[in-house]
Amino acid sequence: MTRIALLGSTGSIGTQTLEVVEQLGEGYEIVALAAGRQVGLLAEQVRRWRPAIVSVATPEARDELRSLVDGDTRIVVGDEGLVEVATWDSANLVVAAVTGALGLRPIVAALEAGKRVAPANKEPLVIAGSILMRLTREQNLPLVPIDSEHSAIYQCLRGEDVATVERLVLTASGGPFRGCQLADLEGVTPEQALCHPTWKMGPKITIDSATLFNKGLEVIEAQWLFGLPVDKVDVIVHPQSIVHSMVEFQDGSVLAQMDDPNMRTPIQFALTYPQRLRSPRSRLSLAARVPLSFEQPNLDVFRCLALAYDAARAGGLVPCAMNAADEVAVERFLQGRIRFLDIPRVVERVMARCEHVADPDLDMLFAADAQARRWADEECGC
Ligand code: MG
Repeated sequence: MTRIALLGSTGSIGTQTLEVVEQLGEGYEIVALAAGRQVGLLAEQVRRWRPAIVSVATPEARDELRSLVDGDTRIVVGDEGLVEVATWDSANLVVAAVTGALGLRPIVAALEAGKRVAPANKEPLVIAGSILMRLTREQNLPLVPIDSEHSAIYQCLRGEDVATVERLVLTASGGPFRGCQLADLEGVTPEQALCHPTWKMGPKITIDSATLFNKGLEVIEAQWLFGLPVDKVDVIVHPQSIVHSMVEFQDGSVLAQMDDPNMRTPIQFALTYPQRLRSPRSRLSLAARVPLSFEQPNLDVFRCLALAYDAARAGGLVPCAMNAADEVAVERFLQGRIRFLDIPRVVERVMARCEHVADPDLDMLFAADAQARRWADEECGC
């Protein structure tokens, strides 16, 4: 029996995870849920899934949820509530789909409690990859990612020796501004940046896809998940999003994983791992999808991607600061307070202010995250 604690149940990955669990049926159970403030949807989920415990962001959200569901469900609040859900005794799989740095502490707690974790959000690995991979090794647990590119690579690497890998190739859709030059991006509005051509996602990750910052996070995520230096992780733009990523081996062979752009396949793979179970989804029709095209990303235009490589090479607190700066910059951009091209500028300035510390612990990382947010607000002029 796979008993799932789902963190971020009302978000895009969370709701799709529940759909996959519904389809899988027998053998899969939801025992704990965590969400933020979308209490109405969460209440529906609680009534459908009957988890033993639910966590929400605030005491107000708890009171509202209490009034909408019956008394059997334990309702907890805030960061501590998230950790309680992530370490819930009967859960043996934690699907971690909480946006941003907030997802880090519950993942650490789940791993320390010996639970298998399927990370959907990349920030925890970007911020604390060294800590998370050490815990995973110590607990001898598979860390099967839900991010589609990393799921693709994970699948291509099954049964392979990582020492024979020449490079990983992450595919990127290129976002709404593929092919644009810097001058084209000067006056970009939030509405334009929120219009993603292939993937439907939350606002933060959609803006990060438009700047290619998201791909930068994925480069760092891949470096940790697969234990390869960042210079062995390449990015190629593939607008159709059919090839989800590739692995090139030292004999020149390249393996790719393909599917229509959808998150249910990587979610199901992570839930049922190491098995592959039947899915009712429609099948990829390659003949209807051709031509498939590939092109190099322009790092001069999409500066955020270049900055992520810099951050990965610098290591220590820098990826953490980079991530925090981007969260602030994206929020300010969505509020109309900075321009689109200010996002990489803010991130770069905050990275430059960051101290170099080798092997920081969690407290140092949280302090660096908070400091980087203050710096980012200064750099935004807020
Ligand atoms: Mg992805």
